[in-house]
Amino acid sequence: MSPIERIPFTCTLDCGSRCELVAVVEDGRLVRVDTPPREDSPERPRLIPCVRGRAHRALVGARERVGTPLKRNGPRGSGAFMPISWGEALDEIAGRLQNLAARKAHSALLHITGAGSISGRGFSGASASHRFFSFWGPVTVTVGNMSNHCAGIAAQWMLGGQVPASDRATLLDARLIRLWGKNPAETHMAPNTAHFIAGARDRGARVILIDPRYTDSAILADEWVPIRPGTDAALVAAMAYVMETEGLVDRAFLETHTLGYGPYREYLLGVRDGQPKAPQWAEAISGVPAETIVRLGREYATVKPACLLPGWGPQRTLYGEQAARAFITLACMSGNMGLRGGGVASVG
Ligand code: SF4
Repeated sequence: MSPIERIPFTCTLDCGSRCELVAVVEDGRLVRVDTPPREDSPERPRLIPCVRGRAHRALVGARERVGTPLKRNGPRGSGAFMPISWGEALDEIAGRLQNLAARKAHSALLHITGAGSISGRGFSGASASHRFFSFWGPVTVTVGNMSNHCAGIAAQWMLGGQVPASDRATLLDARLIRLWGKNPAETHMAPNTAHFIAGARDRGARVILIDPRYTDSAILADEWVPIRPGTDAALVAAMAYVMETEGLVDRAFLETHTLGYGPYREYLLGVRDGQPKAPQWAEAISGVPAETIVRLGREYATVKPACLLPGWGPQRTLYGEQAARAFITLACMSGNMGLRGGGVASVG
C-alpha cells in the first residue's frame, strides 16, 4: 500500500479568497480535501474554506466533467461535439492561429478569459493566455470584468483607486455596520469579514443588513431591511435627502475633502427635475417604508464610526455604477470617510 500523501493546493474556484486546501491522496486517488493546520486566534482568525472548496474531490471526479477536448461536429448551436485528443486539439488550434496570422487577421480572434476555474490564482490561466496572445498579435479583447466592474470604475473616478477599503480589523472599531447587498457569511473575498463583523457586534456595534434576500448573513445582523433588487441608488438618495434636509450632512468634510456635491444636492432636492428624492419617492421604488428610510438616514449620519459595506450585487445591474457612486457619496456626506471603523468598502 502506497503512503498517504498530503499535497497543499490553492482553491481553484472563481472566488477571491484563494483558500489553502490540502489534497489527501491515497494510491494516486484523491480521497479527501482537508485544511492545513493554522493558528486560529481572535488576532489572527483563520480563513476557513467554504463547502465549495471542500467539494473539490467531487468536482475532480464528477462524471459531468469534460475530460478531453471537444470539437464541434454539427451546425453551430446544435450542441453536437466529438471528443478529440489533446494532440489533435493543439494541431487544430495552431492551424487556425497560423491561418489568421498569415492573413494578418489577428483581430478576428476574440480572446475572452478571466472567469471560472481559470481565474484561480493557483492556475493563473488567465495571465498565461494574456501573455501568450500579447506576443502573438493584436487580438480583440474585452474590457472590465463581470464581478465588480461598476464598483471599481466608481471607486477609480471618485476615490482615485480601485481598492480603497480599510483593513477588516478596523471593523472592530465601528459602532454601526451596514451590510448592503453583502453576504460575508456565505461568500468572502480574501479576508474573514464575517469574523470581524461578529467581533464588532460583540463590542456593541449595531449591524443592519439591507438585501433583497434574507441571507445567512442575517445571523450577523440586528435588523434586516428587504429591498427590491436594483433600487439601491434610490434608497441611498432618499437617505441622503433626509441628511440634507435635516441638517445632518458633514459640510466641513465635504468642503475640505470633496468636489462636486452641489449637483448631487440639486438632484436630491429636485431642483432640475422637480422631483425631490424624499423617502416617499424612494418607498415607491425600493419597497422600503418611508419611516424606515428616515430612520436609516438619521442613524447613518449620527452614529460614528459607521461602516458601509456594499456587496457586488447592487452594482451588477444596468447603470450599476450609480449605486456604487451613491454609496461613496453617502459615506462622504456622513463624514465617515477616513475614520477608523468607518468608510466604505466599495470594491471588496
Ligand atoms: S471561499 Fe470557498 S470557493 Fe472561495 S477560495 Fe475559499 S474554499 Fe474556494
